[in-house]
Amino acid sequence: MSRLSPLELKRMTRAATEARDNAYAPYSDHPVGAALMTKSGRVYAGCNVENAHFNCTHAEASAISAMISAGERDIRAIVIVGPAMEYLCTPCGDCRQRLREFAKPDLPIYSMWKDGSFGHILTLEKLLPASFGPENLAEVGHGPLAKKTPKKKKKK
Ligand SMILES: [Zn+2]
Repeated sequence: MSRLSPLELKRMTRAATEARDNAYAPYSDHPVGAALMTKSGRVYAGCNVENAHFNCTHAEASAISAMISAGERDIRAIVIVGPAMEYLCTPCGDCRQRLREFAKPDLPIYSMWKDGSFGHILTLEKLLPASFGPENLAEVGHGPLAKKTPKKKKKK
């Protein structure tokens, strides 16, 4: 696990907080912002976006979409800032699996406490133990990690 430096954590907390403050959450009244840092050091932020259909996009998924749109694939760390509540705002099950697609199990997950601190730092492995990821499908020759075998030339 490659933890964030205090300066990186401050930068990402600011990005996640700004995203949270732009969240569109009129139904749940539970605004969340997430900022993820890729291995290149760039930061991508996202917020939850709800709609009347109740099929919303979570902050983590929103940040992942921003990262993918910019052409990056490897998440180094993520910071999540929810509304100030007693409960820690960790990624939901769906977002944990989305993070797993672009991060290793030792991904550090920083979820902000009510008082603005981060307390103990979680990992994806802790929140999604024995996870199923791209490596599983690579074994059977599918997905981005599968070894590409050159196609055999057809005999004429
Ligand atoms: Zn989620």
